[in-house]
Amino acid sequence: MMASDKHIGILGGGQLGGMLIRHAIDFGVKIAILESDLNAATAQYSGHFTCGDCMDYDTVVAFGTGLDIITIEKEAVNVEALKTLRSKGVKVHPAPEIIEIIQDKYSQKQFLLSKGIPVVPGIPIHGLRDLAQHADRLPGCLKLRRNGYDGKGVMMLREATDIENAFTEPSVLEELVSIQQEIAVIVARNEQSEVTCYDPVDMVFNPKRLLLDFQLCPAVISAAHAIQAREIALQVAEEFRLVGIMAIEMFVTTGGQVLVNELAPRPHNSGHHTIEAAATSQYEQLLRAIMGYSLGNTTLHSSSIMINLLQPEQCTEQHMQQALRSILAVPNAHLHWYGKKGNKAGRKMGHITVTAPDMEQAEETAARIRNILNHLHEPTTGSYHHG
Ligand code: ADP
Repeated sequence: MMASDKHIGILGGGQLGGMLIRHAIDFGVKIAILESDLNAATAQYSGHFTCGDCMDYDTVVAFGTGLDIITIEKEAVNVEALKTLRSKGVKVHPAPEIIEIIQDKYSQKQFLLSKGIPVVPGIPIHGLRDLAQHADRLPGCLKLRRNGYDGKGVMMLREATDIENAFTEPSVLEELVSIQQEIAVIVARNEQSEVTCYDPVDMVFNPKRLLLDFQLCPAVISAAHAIQAREIALQVAEEFRLVGIMAIEMFVTTGGQVLVNELAPRPHNSGHHTIEAAATSQYEQLLRAIMGYSLGNTTLHSSSIMINLLQPEQCTEQHMQQALRSILAVPNAHLHWYGKKGNKAGRKMGHITVTAPDMEQAEETAARIRNILNHLHEPTTGSYHHG
């Protein structure tokens, strides 16, 4: 294939990078990874693994020099270095300017607002004193402007007394939305301005940790909301002149509005299911987009439920192995184990995608898997009989 002499660099070497490598093999593309964690799974899988900080200008420039294309699997990267690389002839997708806007939750919101895209209303906050002056806006949702992920940069402020424990860093104070459903749409766009998007997924969160528990696709939403979500996603891709893929997380409010919560200009967990349930995976779609190929078909051929495998407290490796063995005995359960070292409670260790001809059957299979996983929280009970 023509592509085989291309060298693509990825900033970040977590599980998303790992899944991208898997699909790059199908295209005969060589992948180089820049990642600071030597224990990252991609250290074993990529032909060229550089241990280094994606936020460091010199490191990123040195890494990218000589590569054909650079892309990202996380937003925390040095944007100036990407601009330098682009001026040296390296193709950078998504464009550094897109990453720059999205790195800051407030500038992201401003950009969308300026394009007439509905967002959750919010104001910038410059510290505790500033926040105290806006106490009349509570309850609200306070978010770090930069570097929040997996709910770690988000806190709910119920009343004025919550302010003393609030973030001191620059943040955004959002109105508390009455959320009926959280959905996400992945959109792709290439240099030829072809645009395509996947069906919305339903994201079900664990309210305690604000971390995703599982997600269903297609989302159980009205046809009108699905159309609205797709239109928003297509418009966002157009407004950014995106080359690559982007996940658009949205809230469907109890009042029936669809509001953009946040954007991720890279492969995203809300697209995990595309590997098994769609004609083209989000990873293949990203490679197609950044290499200038036609975009692939996004049609779903199965209903799916994606279940995150979070490390339970006090769970031995042996118990986890036993659970994985039981899960793999369930038909149409597809395991993705990220190969992370260490077993800190709450960490995303992998995920399972269940596929089925319809959602009812997917629910049945997912219930079996949840049953197995629930046993992991009581490791002394031992066996995992099911079905
Ligand atoms: P992260 O990028 O860390 O995942 P999010 O912005 O997605 O952060 O917020 C995490 C979760 O917090 C959301 O999925 C949602 O459940 C809840 N949340 C976020 N913003 C609001 C809001 N304005 N009102 C109500 N709940 C919110």
